[in-house]
Amino acid sequence: MGKFFYFILCGLLFSVVLNILFFSKKHIKTRETKVFSILLLLNLIGLISELLCSYIGFNYSENTILPHISTKIYLICLMTFLLFMTLYIYIICYVSSDKPKLKYYNKLKIISYIIWIVCVIVCIFLPITTGRGFATGPAVNWVYTCSTLALIEWTIPFIKNIKTINKKKLLPIILFVLFMIIISAIQKIYPEITLTTVMEFLVIFIMYHTIENPDLKMIAELNLAREQADKANNAKSEFLSNMSHEIRTPLNAIVGFSEALQEEDIPDSAKEEVKDIISASQSLLEIVNGILDISKIEANKIEIVNTEYDFNKVLKDLVALSKARMGDKPLEFRTNFDPTIPSVLYGDHTRIKQIILNLLTNAIKYTKEGYVEFRVSCVKKDDICRLIISVEDSGIGIKQENIDKLFSKFERFDLEKNITIEGTGLGLAITKKLVDLMNGKIVVQSIYGEGSRFTVAIDQRIVAMDPIKIEVEQQEKKEIDVSGKKLLIVDDNILNIKVATRLLKDYNLDIDSVTSGQACIDKINLGEKYDLILMDDMMPNMSGVETYNNLRVLDNFNIPTIILTANAISGMKEKYIEKDKFNDYLSKPIDRNELDRVIRKFLVK
Ligand code: ADP
Repeated sequence: MGKFFYFILCGLLFSVVLNILFFSKKHIKTRETKVFSILLLLNLIGLISELLCSYIGFNYSENTILPHISTKIYLICLMTFLLFMTLYIYIICYVSSDKPKLKYYNKLKIISYIIWIVCVIVCIFLPITTGRGFATGPAVNWVYTCSTLALIEWTIPFIKNIKTINKKKLLPIILFVLFMIIISAIQKIYPEITLTTVMEFLVIFIMYHTIENPDLKMIAELNLAREQADKANNAKSEFLSNMSHEIRTPLNAIVGFSEALQEEDIPDSAKEEVKDIISASQSLLEIVNGILDISKIEANKIEIVNTEYDFNKVLKDLVALSKARMGDKPLEFRTNFDPTIPSVLYGDHTRIKQIILNLLTNAIKYTKEGYVEFRVSCVKKDDICRLIISVEDSGIGIKQENIDKLFSKFERFDLEKNITIEGTGLGLAITKKLVDLMNGKIVVQSIYGEGSRFTVAIDQRIVAMDPIKIEVEQQEKKEIDVSGKKLLIVDDNILNIKVATRLLKDYNLDIDSVTSGQACIDKINLGEKYDLILMDDMMPNMSGVETYNNLRVLDNFNIPTIILTANAISGMKEKYIEKDKFNDYLSKPIDRNELDRVIRKFLVK
């Protein structure tokens, strides 16, 4: 037996252990681990074939075929090892970087396979001279030549990607090249010294420690932890949504009855107090809405829903809402709309409205006297229209050092001055997040004591080029009389029915009510005729959505049905109308202008 037989045997035993270690552990299948596992197996086969060569060379040296075949198998193993080593190098050069260049990798892989096939065929046909445990001749020289060419070829991807290669992964490659040069030189002089596959094993062993092999058990634990965190987050969202519902229900009664009381014949001093009750309830409502919105944004649950919309209507609503918010404050509300803004755009009008309304509300809140100016212009390029929206006021202004903190949650400034102004410090945080979600920009300019200007730029797609018609004058408030029309309120809460009935009284409607979904279905089945249904959603036994689904399958059911709900998280309106197919949406506490709009839309012919 040759001197190196036992040396190779040791290498084989270590390789078996490493194979068992590697393959007994679960791995994430990446290109790198796949090629590494092939190299590991090839090395094992190479060691076995080298051992066989040594054994056959010593014990069957007279046989002309056996040493020949075993040596050729060994040489093919060597060339295959070189092929996969080449692929490994391509992977660390082209695939494992931050910007994988798969195109190059795939091309080079195919070329390498073709070259390998040619090299192996040539090796099979070239003659060989076998000695006691080693071989010489053209086939062996051919393998040397191929190895040298492979080494030269490796330098190309290295040099090209030197900056992006993970340096840790270079070590085994450099060692492999060094070992190859040294061993080739030794074998040229002493061909009986057979060390190649053991050297391969050493390199593989070092490589094993450089392969990123994330612990799958740890990943499973992390996934579990994330699932639990998601569950907790969902529970929080659900809690907030329930809390909003619970707060809105009594608030609905407070706002509804106070508004009704305001129109009664009561002493002036009492009227003032009722006004304060309404204003305080509205602030409370804004706080609830703000907390819900921010928690939804933070849970990444807000999506931008793009649709075609009429920009005229957005402007009109915003002006009307701002004027209503201004009430009797001594403020001049100026508007300045670029007449070339296209009237029909494609984008998320609900969010655009929310962004602008937040800015307008702040301008009105933080300005005692002077003006608030709402300006919109646009820059058009191809089918994109960049809306430039600015809201300027002559209010208290913001100190320079506070401007950076403006968009953080719960930040409020100048509290000594603003003590009487209600707010949560959430409005601008929400605004900024929404602007970011729409890939827009928001900037603030302000002079403390003189006023502020908030400017937002958001791109929207143009649908129709016809310019906006700027007729944003507030609609004159006209009494709506729909006497003779019949309306059904469906709500499990008696107080809510009382509030709605009180608010609807002014329209001279004939009002009926039931306290469950089933009772509503029974009424319709009995042939009761209504012109409109107001339906609560969260009811025990049968929710409003379920009730409406059951109603819609009844023959000839065509009564417009409006969801009237305390579930007012952003996005709910769209869900109720688009998914659940309600004809419209009203949130609790009921807003008088919204109620007017709905009554006009469905009952005034
Ligand atoms: P809120 O108005 O509920 O307090 P915001 O996030 O909308 O919360 O605003 C944060 C703070 O920024 C306000 O408390 C106020 O100090 C300041 N601020 C916002 N807009 C203006 C403005 N137009 N003029 C002066 N200060 C403003």
